[in-house]
Amino acid sequence: METKQVAKLEFAVQLSCESCVRAVRAALEGERGVRSVHIDLSREEVLVETSLNTQEVQALIESTGRRAVLKGVGGAQADLGTAVAMLSGTGRVQGVVRFLQLSQDCCLIDGTIDGLEPGLHGLHVHKLGDLTQDCMSCGEHYNPFGKQHGGPEDTERHVGDLGNILAAADGRATFRLEDSQLKVWDVIGRSMVVDSGEDDLGKGNHSLSSTTGNSGERVACGIIARSAGLFQNPKQICACDGVTLWEERDRPLAGKGRRVTDTPPANL
Ligand code: ZN
Repeated sequence: METKQVAKLEFAVQLSCESCVRAVRAALEGERGVRSVHIDLSREEVLVETSLNTQEVQALIESTGRRAVLKGVGGAQADLGTAVAMLSGTGRVQGVVRFLQLSQDCCLIDGTIDGLEPGLHGLHVHKLGDLTQDCMSCGEHYNPFGKQHGGPEDTERHVGDLGNILAAADGRATFRLEDSQLKVWDVIGRSMVVDSGEDDLGKGNHSLSSTTGNSGERVACGIIARSAGLFQNPKQICACDGVTLWEERDRPLAGKGRRVTDTPPANL
């Protein structure tokens, strides 16, 4: 039974022939959590309806030997807005967290964060989108209703309390959360912060338990910005990701391999 919310993910994928299309389709279809796959060879575009994390879908596409770049996300039926935060800090932790508001009561939060110590790490939306003193100027957990710190399933919690994410042995945390309290339009312009330690969800004995969950230092943070929905990102460089599309990365300067469509649009 499908219980997870489904999102639509739009990828630009290096597709040059029907056999490429078949390979990408084969890599995705039948995968648990993939509901449908639409591939447009002429536009080199793959649209996947899925309950998987964006990084997992990208890895499936790239398992065929082709580059994929996420261009947009949206709801399977409709969505009320999308946002993204690029996380970094003074150390080696970095990542991307995406927000997709599927309905008034469901915000999908999808992310991949690298460079973490293996284990649990508190994840919170903080009040301020201020990185002037790195993550220390982000303010406290976003708490518009004056509540105590808690876990994502609690009614007594900060709106920004998203609980813990789990980093694997390689330091990567890949997650996909559904939250009933957080709304995309309330968090744009604020910040996303990941901490060095586990959030006790307000249930510990430490003096910080009721305010922060005693989850240690802030190791990476990023401002939450509005991002592209489906088909809203026609540009060849995805500034929201800081990622250059494969056309740009691999494009020969001239000659064989260079095509008319490689010319950047005039509006770039
Ligand atoms: Zn909190």
